[in-house]
Amino acid sequence: MSPATERPTVSFELFPPRDVDSAPRLWDTIRHLEAARPDFVSVTYGASGSTRETTRALVTRILRETSLNPIAHLTCVATSRKEIACVVEEFLDAGVRSFLALRGDPPTAGAGWEAHPDGLRTAAELVTLLRQIESRRCAQSPSQQVRATVRPLSIAVAAFPRGNHGAGSTREQDIQALLDKQSAGADFAVTQLFYDAESYLELVGEARRSGVRIPIIPGIIPATDPARLLRTQELTGVPVPRDLLARLEAADDDAARRRLGVRATADLVKAVLDGGAPGIHLYTFNRHEAALGVLDAVGLLPGSARPTSQPDPAPAYTI
Ligand code: FAD
Repeated sequence: MSPATERPTVSFELFPPRDVDSAPRLWDTIRHLEAARPDFVSVTYGASGSTRETTRALVTRILRETSLNPIAHLTCVATSRKEIACVVEEFLDAGVRSFLALRGDPPTAGAGWEAHPDGLRTAAELVTLLRQIESRRCAQSPSQQVRATVRPLSIAVAAFPRGNHGAGSTREQDIQALLDKQSAGADFAVTQLFYDAESYLELVGEARRSGVRIPIIPGIIPATDPARLLRTQELTGVPVPRDLLARLEAADDDAARRRLGVRATADLVKAVLDGGAPGIHLYTFNRHEAALGVLDAVGLLPGSARPTSQPDPAPAYTI
């Protein structure tokens, strides 16, 4: 397949609800997202491992009951190296083969980041630990080695087009962190959300000039809900463009707002794909309509997955 005709990768982020088994709306969303035939779905991990059980429950149920390839997020916050290794072993025993390795933010917003006394300090160290655990398991068991050849461990990491607000780092430090993650064995990166294609393209350009070779997938939020955009601005420090916010707030009703937001997001997606992005990762907030609307608008949605004109159900979960 020539690069011109190749379908970019499509992936979604989900977060675990309090009770994975009694969350019918989430499963409805997952079925709709599955119909879009994504390359993977990633499942977040609460600060300090607060969603350890629910992340594992959601990831393993996705593995068991759907055709989706789940990626489990992992963080190092307030956890010893031994505890992190234990969590990793649990995921591997459950058949999980893909991870997004993160340092994580401090559990209290605004507090400084402190590593656990026996813990890991960076995402790169977590990538190293994941590779070590996998090597040990393979060395211990020939059958494990065969399975690992058939389904290799894949490790994603984070990248920051608008700087890492939580970490207060500079562009140079962020690129260095990306190089460290690559050297430790990361396979690809997914970015924090951003609203202008230049931020992403500049980061990729600088990363390439500095020796980063792994693919960097842009993470994109469907910009349809002004309240959600403002909340993510608080959490990530990525400012929502004032004019986008004003246009969304001035829309006549929810349907008009959604159309406007989907169009704006589709323009961003087209710009990053035209600029060479290998795919897109959509932050769904456990809702499918807007994400599928964006894919539809850029011609990346299989016909069978077209969204209906029904609005999303009321939000059942919050981040
Ligand atoms: P790191 O790469 O370890 O960087 C952290 C800081 O350390 C930076 O300042 C960096 O410059 C510095 N640093 C790294 N290596 C070195 C080095 N060798 N020498 C000196 N300084 C160094 N958080 C959650 O809690 N749960 C989630 O599920 C989650 N999912 C996310 C998904 C994505 C796609 C993204 C982009 C972020 C996500 N986060 C999540 C937030 C993330 O945990 C925070 O942004 C965190 O502050 C940074 O994580 P990191 O993995 O990039 O850390």
